[in-house]
Amino acid sequence: MSDHTTQEFPPDPAFTEQAVGQAELFAQADADPEGFWADQARRYVTWSKDFTEVLDWSNAPFARWFADGELNVAHNCVDRHVEAGHGERVAIHFEGAEGDTQTITYAELQRRVCQAANALTELGVATGDRVAIYLPMIPEAIVSMLACARLGAPHSVVFGGFSADAIRSRVADAEARVVITADGQHRKGKVAPLKAAVDQAVSGEDSPVEHVLVVRRTGGDVDWSDKDVWWHDLVDRQSDRHEAQPMPAEHPLYILYTSGTTGKPKGILHTSGGYLTQAAYTNAVVHDVHPESDVYWCTADIGWVTGHSYLVYGPLANGATQVVYEGTPDHPHQGRWWEIIQKYGVTILYTAPTAIRTCMKWGAEIPAKYDLSSLRVLGSVGEPINPEAWLWYRKNIGGDRCPIVDTWWQTETGAIMISPLPGVTSLEPGSAQRPIPGISAEILDDAGEPFTEAEKVGYLVLTKPWPSMLRGLWGDPERYKDTYWSRFGDKYYFAGDGAKYDDKGNIWLLGRVDDVMNVSGHRLSTAEIESALVSHPSVAEAAVVGAADDTTGQAVCAFVILREGAEQSDSTVEELRSHVAKEISPIAKPKSVMIVSELPKTRSGKIMRRLLKDVAEGREIGDATTLTDASVMDFIKQGMSQR
Ligand code: ATP
Ligand code: MG
Repeated sequence: MSDHTTQEFPPDPAFTEQAVGQAELFAQADADPEGFWADQARRYVTWSKDFTEVLDWSNAPFARWFADGELNVAHNCVDRHVEAGHGERVAIHFEGAEGDTQTITYAELQRRVCQAANALTELGVATGDRVAIYLPMIPEAIVSMLACARLGAPHSVVFGGFSADAIRSRVADAEARVVITADGQHRKGKVAPLKAAVDQAVSGEDSPVEHVLVVRRTGGDVDWSDKDVWWHDLVDRQSDRHEAQPMPAEHPLYILYTSGTTGKPKGILHTSGGYLTQAAYTNAVVHDVHPESDVYWCTADIGWVTGHSYLVYGPLANGATQVVYEGTPDHPHQGRWWEIIQKYGVTILYTAPTAIRTCMKWGAEIPAKYDLSSLRVLGSVGEPINPEAWLWYRKNIGGDRCPIVDTWWQTETGAIMISPLPGVTSLEPGSAQRPIPGISAEILDDAGEPFTEAEKVGYLVLTKPWPSMLRGLWGDPERYKDTYWSRFGDKYYFAGDGAKYDDKGNIWLLGRVDDVMNVSGHRLSTAEIESALVSHPSVAEAAVVGAADDTTGQAVCAFVILREGAEQSDSTVEELRSHVAKEISPIAKPKSVMIVSELPKTRSGKIMRRLLKDVAEGREIGDATTLTDASVMDFIKQGMSQR
């Protein structure tokens, strides 16, 4: 691929001096990986009982980390900060969708979590029982997760907005005894129902659900059954004292389903000690969190793994102060996020490429109206961030001074795996760069051999177990082995993503292996063609799929969203096709370019290429249960049929 970004951004020495993550970590981790993780476990986590063994890999690929240690995850995220004298520190600046706000200190969070834990106990929830959580982004969501963790009752968070079917299947899979929900949720100035979907999902004799705990958020009308109990009736009258019991390190913490970008979502199981260790360590060294001075903001929804690791467990374990925002970026206006950063003096922002590209589409003049000078670190997660979007983010949000950490990881990995360390790494736009200290990755060829040649496309694998790795798929050990540990034998964790090195040895993520196209015998990556399209001044977002083609095997089909003000015409389409040919090669030139106003995305903001491929190949569209807005596909299908 032609390189339109040879730019490099070396760390600012002033940043390095104060950085949490220092270069020595790499050498320490290389010299003694297990000793390194033991150090992090003792640095970032308080153990009720110290561990004697670090890793037990004797039953590979089922890992056990710090197995004879004991801890309580909620105690680590809340109580210990109060005990250390930080009770008055703000844990959560809550910014509600309707402009309502709450300031929740660690002491207040402790009281709320204790009350919720007592309430769940009254409902019969005991250690090991599963609880489903289907809530908007309100403090009760975080309180509920921590109350479950406190009791050792694994939670299964389901995105608010998924259908009754999605809730029903997740509740059934986990055999949840309790569901926590709300009467409704605020969406762009309107009230959307929430409980109705739960009512449907828990109806019938065969539902394992005994109780539904309902937060009053919108005050809208709801149907009521004898399973239902109001949060304010039950939780508010509980004692705000609760003794947290230590749990074994391998006690299950939660089940969470993957985004469903490549197929039916998988129920990923995470446990306590190793997970918390890596979530807290990465949040500290990658986001450079200084709990006493930073105001951190992760924009992810708690229904996504990023919300679990970097909104709940990581930052709270570190005792950080953070912003939690319930609303959308464009309500009541497109400057809403930047207004929030200005209001709270946010210093660290962690968001997704889709959000950056949307802001690019709206135009740089919107963030320019706000004071963003408090920011000092920016992060990205969820998809490859195209160099163009990276540079836009750095310039228009980061004031040309903030390091950007492009963090590669998965629901399965539990925490960040490949990312620059701010203050250490010289940044390269568009590349997630290197495994962080403690993590080992390789790129394999078709024969399963590791290689280091630049620009050759291969398969990303992880070569050593890591503390926050999934412990399996809930109730399906065989599928766990098949999906992750069989493609290249049981030595390699197969991530499912294509990757390459550049000539500096940086890793570039190239999209899903399933999405790599074969055009006239040439392998092309979706991510590279999309980046080429986004590098054109008219384009805000692009999705590329390979559709079956009689002559070339596969043909490149592109779907693009134009930037504000760009002309929607045949000549634009021609220009974009030639632009790709010039940027990459004539082989990559899209056979078709369709201009659309929206792309199908998961609730976590990832483009669902498989649905576009279904349309491009004229099939019924597949599992769309995790799609944000089903009408997007109707528009795209209509557009296709008119061509
Ligand atoms: P499913 O596994 O159900 O298809 P999913 O893989 O989208 O869904 P997640 O676990 O939410 O579910 O996403 C992990 C994937 O997101 C990674 O495998 C990778 O493809 C992509 N990803 C995440 N962060 C990055 C990043 N910084 N750069 C490139 N890709 C990323
Ligand atoms: Mg995946």
